[in-house]
Amino acid sequence: MRFQGKVVLVTGAGSDRGIGGAVAAGFAREGARLALVDIDARALERASAKMGLGESDVLLLEADVSNRAQVHAAVAAALRKFARIDVLVNNAGFCEFRRFLEIDDTLWDRTLAVNLKGYFLFGQEVARHMCERGGGGKIVNISSISAETSGEEKVHYSVTKAGIKSLTQGMALELARCRINVNAVAPGTIDTNIIKEPRIERLVEHERRHSSAPWGRIGRPEDVVGAALFLASDEADYITGATMLVDGGVSAGSLLPREE
Ligand code: NAD
Repeated sequence: MRFQGKVVLVTGAGSDRGIGGAVAAGFAREGARLALVDIDARALERASAKMGLGESDVLLLEADVSNRAQVHAAVAAALRKFARIDVLVNNAGFCEFRRFLEIDDTLWDRTLAVNLKGYFLFGQEVARHMCERGGGGKIVNISSISAETSGEEKVHYSVTKAGIKSLTQGMALELARCRINVNAVAPGTIDTNIIKEPRIERLVEHERRHSSAPWGRIGRPEDVVGAALFLASDEADYITGATMLVDGGVSAGSLLPREE
């Protein structure tokens, strides 16, 4: 029960098989009260019902993470209910695959607004509260191995993840004086709802059956939970500005082709 008495805010917690929902459930199992944010209010209700939390332990907040007014209102509502936020998990994001030459301004701007500016906005609003309260707190940014190496048809997405690495470092430096730890978790391919395009879903189906990860299988949302909870716990008090890989060994290198 490492998070007994703590309040944790998780963005993008509505997906029924997403990283945010799995991480939120992990915090709940360890005693945390939760403020759950998503752009999809009905998905949020379903996710929260699955966690089986009582009304006093959870607050559902419909908000678009890229919108300053909505982010401010969500943080204010969480503070009205719980009077504090101890942990922020910035997780809401999306990835629409598109060839570099076909990315239009709308997709570029929206990807940066949600995946990068959203982390900045929630980070700033929550850190401001943590500093004003006298300091102390943890921020965990869900990044990706795409921060280090890009991928076909996801330049715009990878740029946001590289940005999150820098954001994590910069926030860690400036917020250390408020005793706020800021770290990132970088998952490899995780089997969630993030893929919406059928042609990419077919590639993911191949990855489900013949994973290219040295660990031998595609990642599951639950695989990310341990790293996120550790970085949000007291055990990680001297860790800040770091990124922890959760990728089944993908970033470690490549194996020889397997014999059939
Ligand atoms: P998902 O689609 O299952 O969940 C994302 C959630 O974010 C959804 O509930 C969605 O409604 C919400 N969301 C999207 N835009 C939003 C907005 N503007 N405001 C508020 N909520 C919004 O995807 P996921 O794979 O669980 O993704 C979660 C995070 O993990 C993302 O930041 C993603 O980049 C990162 N990630 C995913 C993978 C992977 O392979 N799935 C790998 C590395 C990193």
